[in-house]
Amino acid sequence: MRIGVNWGSLDKGLVARMMDENARAAEPKDADEMTREIMVASALDSAARAEALGLPRSRIVLSCKMSGVQDLIGVYRLLAARSDHALHLGLTEAGIGSKGIVASTAALAVLLQEGIGDTIRISLTPEPGGDRAQEVRVAQEILQTMGLRAFSPLVIACPGCGRTTSTVFQSLAQDIQSYLRERMPEWRERYPGVEAMQVAVMGCVVNGPGESRHANIGISLPGTGERPAAPVFVDGEKFTTLKGEGIADAFKQIVDEYVRTRYGSQ
Ligand code: SF4
Repeated sequence: MRIGVNWGSLDKGLVARMMDENARAAEPKDADEMTREIMVASALDSAARAEALGLPRSRIVLSCKMSGVQDLIGVYRLLAARSDHALHLGLTEAGIGSKGIVASTAALAVLLQEGIGDTIRISLTPEPGGDRAQEVRVAQEILQTMGLRAFSPLVIACPGCGRTTSTVFQSLAQDIQSYLRERMPEWRERYPGVEAMQVAVMGCVVNGPGESRHANIGISLPGTGERPAAPVFVDGEKFTTLKGEGIADAFKQIVDEYVRTRYGSQ
């Protein structure tokens, strides 16, 4: 059972009592510190009441709703230091678009790296007509990029630079990422471990092959002035060179075959 504490709906008696005590203290805490102290006290108080009513500690998850990155980090550090309850992390009202994603990632990454947090939630304001599932994808990507859990194969793509004159490699990276997501429902059932696969899509054959070698499968597309050929590496070894139209489809076939042979026998 999740016990959530929200600054806007705290027990007024608790707030008044703690504020009075702070005002009388020899070294009173500032307003931000008191906000955090009251949130933590309220969460622990509610959890103690739930336990007194018979709810086992193992079924309680504590959550403190905060919309500031430093506030969230501060509150959860206190909670983790003062209790052994399971903790649910999430920056509430994180915002729209990249602001919400960056703020949520900044807060959760610090806490997760410190070993704080048992469940997470990302709360984003969707763009008009936007997809609510983005919140789930962002949560999964935070955990996966931090190496804590794997949900879906990652596409490593270079940012592009003066060596690239077209957007072909960007389109291919996007196409491959969508393709991997589409295939995952079936692959997850049939090929255990496939979620940890890494696929590299690089923009030139000067620096691309190095990164490709570190991925399970990597392709380097021709950059400015380079021969129109795209070397493909599998498990660190040169596998083939793709040319002409249809590179994307040919690359997907190589990925399919790799998944079948590498993860099919596990
Ligand atoms: S891999 Fe090539 S195209 Fe991509 S950023 Fe590096 S140098 Fe530029």
